[in-house]
Amino acid sequence: MLTQVTSNEISLPNLFTTSAADLPFMRDVVVRSFLIKGENGTLAIYNAPGLSESATMEGGAPKTLLMSHWHEEMYGPPELDLTPYVAAADRAETARSLPNVRTFDAYQNNQAYIDIIPTPGHTAGSAMFLWTCGDHRVLFSGDSIWNHDGRWEAVVLGESNRQNYIASLEAIAELDFDVLIPWVARRGTPCVNVCDRHTARTSVLEIAHRLRQGEPT
Ligand SMILES: [Zn+2]
Repeated sequence: MLTQVTSNEISLPNLFTTSAADLPFMRDVVVRSFLIKGENGTLAIYNAPGLSESATMEGGAPKTLLMSHWHEEMYGPPELDLTPYVAAADRAETARSLPNVRTFDAYQNNQAYIDIIPTPGHTAGSAMFLWTCGDHRVLFSGDSIWNHDGRWEAVVLGESNRQNYIASLEAIAELDFDVLIPWVARRGTPCVNVCDRHTARTSVLEIAHRLRQGEPT
């Protein structure tokens, strides 16, 4: 079931989320898709099993899906007539289960005000999406940055490039945003992380510092 994203602290009136679905290899971690309703239609962010729920959403089903990286292909294509987009470096892996995936350079940004930010590291083609919603700037961080029991963390895998990851985090630390929405979240915790500029910058730089020390998160 789609629900409007709400928080005690902020209002994001055009943002909806799908039901949470299990991440198969991490206990008590769930994934969601998010839907931004714009004047020219609906934009989907992240692939997740619940995305097919948006087929009947008011304002129209999404025609476009922005994927933060290739790991989102693990759930297969949604039962929707849409075009997925991912970074060129992650396209081949994504196409294994979403053969109609296109690269960001082919994306026509007319559905919502959103910036695609290349953030290689977690995977070669990891990207984040920055959405301006009224007074708020919402960063969709994939699983390059997520909230693990109150601490913002990275996910360094065997395929990750640590130096690129650190450089991406240092660039993200300079961004102005006040809401962080990762693809993944602990079950039962909010999918929306409201923060202030200073805390966001500090938290992201702390991750970069840990990665420089050789830590995995
Ligand atoms: Zn991932």
